[in-house]
Amino acid sequence: MKKEFAVIGLGRFGGSICHALAEEGMEVMAIDVNEDRVNEFARIASHAVVGDTTDESVIKSLGIRNFDHVIVAIGDNIQASILTTLILKEVGVKKITVKATNDYHAKVLRKIGADHVVHPERDMGRRIAHSIVSNNVLDYLELSDEHSIVEIVANEKLSGHSIIDLDIRAKYGINIVAIKRENEIIVSPQANEKIQFNDILIVIGADVDINRFEKKVM
Ligand code: ADP
Repeated sequence: MKKEFAVIGLGRFGGSICHALAEEGMEVMAIDVNEDRVNEFARIASHAVVGDTTDESVIKSLGIRNFDHVIVAIGDNIQASILTTLILKEVGVKKITVKATNDYHAKVLRKIGADHVVHPERDMGRRIAHSIVSNNVLDYLELSDEHSIVEIVANEKLSGHSIIDLDIRAKYGINIVAIKRENEIIVSPQANEKIQFNDILIVIGADVDINRFEKKVM
């Protein structure tokens, strides 16, 4: 059975989620208080409705309880975002993802039971800053406050050496989980795999260890 999604708040973030879900062929209900925004999504979403989701009767009448996953993408109106989340929780929505505007907002959302709290602006800012600071870092994914997965481009210092030669695990406490080489991807590379110039190494570990590795070999 197809999963059903509802997106509340059709700003840049909610709007882009709606587009992406529709492109994936998912059933998506798009909701906003602003009629113009809703009209923009009439052709993209399976259903587009005008409604204020801080009103419990609106949430009930739309049958939102039965959706598999509801995304609350109400931007700056923190009060509306919190109240909406609270009502969704009360009516028994199985999975709720909410966009947080700041750390306090995120804390409250977690307290009231949001399953997944996202900070798109903060996270994107950090990712971009990280890749600007280190020339060899293409992208990174934060796993926790202290651990990440990072994509590092292999330079001449690394190329020609095997993973065992470099002794990366023992020296830095990090692991190469995959190597992207042109159109190929080598998952869980063997210790004797030779790194080539311009390989993209996908590395997992503690941030401090990854930083040590970057500084030492880059
Ligand atoms: P972004 O930063 O992602 O662009 P915005 O703040 O521009 O976010 O958009 C948030 C959207 O949420 C707006 O379109 C706004 O009309 C909508 N919104 C705000 N409050 C409510 C509410 N109570 N119910 C439904 N939609 C709401």
